[in-house]
Amino acid sequence: MSPPAKSSAMQRRDFLKATAAGFGTTAALALPGCATMGGGSSRKVVIVGGGYGGATAAKYVRMWSNGGIDVSLVEPNPEFISCPMSNLVIGGSRDLAFITVSYDNLPGRHGVKVVRDAATTIDTGKRTVGLAGGGVLPYDRLILSPGIEFMWDKVPGLDNADAQAKVLHAWKAGPQTVALRKQLEAMPDGGVYVLSIPVAPYRCPPGPYERACQVAWYLRRAKPRSKVLILDGNPDVTSKAALFRKAWAEEYKGIVEYRGNHVLTDVDVATKTAKFEVQDDVRADVLNVVPPQRAGAIAREAEVVTANDRWCDVDFLTFESVQVRNVHVLGDAIQVAAGMPKSGHMANQHAKVCAAAVVALLSGQPPNPSPVLNNTCYSMITDKDSIHVCSVHQWDKDKKTLLPVPGAGGVSPAMSELEGIYAFAWAKNIWADTLA
Ligand SMILES: Cc1cc2nc3c(=O)[nH]c(=O)nc-3n(C[C@H](O)[C@H](O)[C@H](O)COP(=O)(O)OP(=O)(O)OC[C@H]3O[C@@H](n4cnc5c(N)ncnc54)[C@H](O)[C@@H]3O)c2cc1C
Repeated sequence: MSPPAKSSAMQRRDFLKATAAGFGTTAALALPGCATMGGGSSRKVVIVGGGYGGATAAKYVRMWSNGGIDVSLVEPNPEFISCPMSNLVIGGSRDLAFITVSYDNLPGRHGVKVVRDAATTIDTGKRTVGLAGGGVLPYDRLILSPGIEFMWDKVPGLDNADAQAKVLHAWKAGPQTVALRKQLEAMPDGGVYVLSIPVAPYRCPPGPYERACQVAWYLRRAKPRSKVLILDGNPDVTSKAALFRKAWAEEYKGIVEYRGNHVLTDVDVATKTAKFEVQDDVRADVLNVVPPQRAGAIAREAEVVTANDRWCDVDFLTFESVQVRNVHVLGDAIQVAAGMPKSGHMANQHAKVCAAAVVALLSGQPPNPSPVLNNTCYSMITDKDSIHVCSVHQWDKDKKTLLPVPGAGGVSPAMSELEGIYAFAWAKNIWADTLA
């Protein structure tokens, strides 16, 4: 595959555009070596997972190496389907097409080799990735961004495919998103939708509360006698708490009820009943369980799972595993730094720090010694109104980790339609930054 025919001026313009959209990091500013890398390098980067982290890393390693590094992106899904904004599909104000983006620009514009397959084995000694289809990909540097897998052993009643098809998570966007929407459409007026939230850390702290709002938005219009019951494993709302509580008390008064300290232990699928450590059983008309999570399975295969048998510790200057050399881990799979959410925006930022570091290391340069990352998470309260939380994370050379910059973040003063406009612009921008 030929490298992209792009001038370095065009690449600078792309970078500035990305920075203006809020997705830039300072990682790219320290890449003296990358402009000299063009032309027939045999250095190989293999990336596993074409989600928010992996797809961004693939594009940026190609761009920042001037096409000098060979990049293969392994992903089984034919299209990128975004979890951010997927709650609107469940609420019915958007459809699956709205959150679906083609992978075509990665090979077409950036020369990424998109391999439609799943990685099944990793030999970190020989530096090879084995594929389900039988192929083997050699690498100099491996980047893993496999997202999450569910810990079904924590919800024994859901430990089989039949049960999982009835009690949905819809925590990976795609068929389950559409299926949950259908369950809500089939629910009678006067029914109860129950949402179980796992104990943190989990993918997207505000995501469940946004989902409750989107389901309430739908029920208010279509089935006004129905209720949304949030049963949270955490003692309190884990993100934007005051704003969500206000929305439930005012916008969705009489529809949404929140109960904390509901740690799920099991479900009875036949009766759609949720069971808890301490609290009484709860029966639902639609039961939506977000199970506890850990790094995607391939991380275990690569032996980079180091924290609580769940997540992967990394060096935040490069996102290289602290345990296995030449293997980097991004996104939800990592053991996060203090105050860092498991979000798509954050995975995009990890990817850029990592891409810059990989390009630097493969060209004999040191990585940027002081990266700065940012995060913004919008949550749609209605089909138009939104709220946000944002933060900035900076390398602390003494503590050797990323720390939130005091006073550099915050939350919306109130939900508004203007924030809704920003939220849709955020989504369009990050999809373009990742995949265009
Ligand atoms: C309902 C919901 C709403 C959300 N809203 C927001 C939001 O508004 N803003 C925000 O920033 N974040 C949001 N998030 C969080 C965001 O979706 C995740 O944090 C983000 O997707 C993490 O990126 P990732 O690359 O780690 O994983 P993913 O994006 O999940 O990508 C992982 C990819 O790896 C692939 N993969 C896994 N194993 C293999 C293998 N063995 N071989 C090949 N490929 C493999 C998978 O197919 C997948 O495509 C939301 C999440 C949910 C569920």
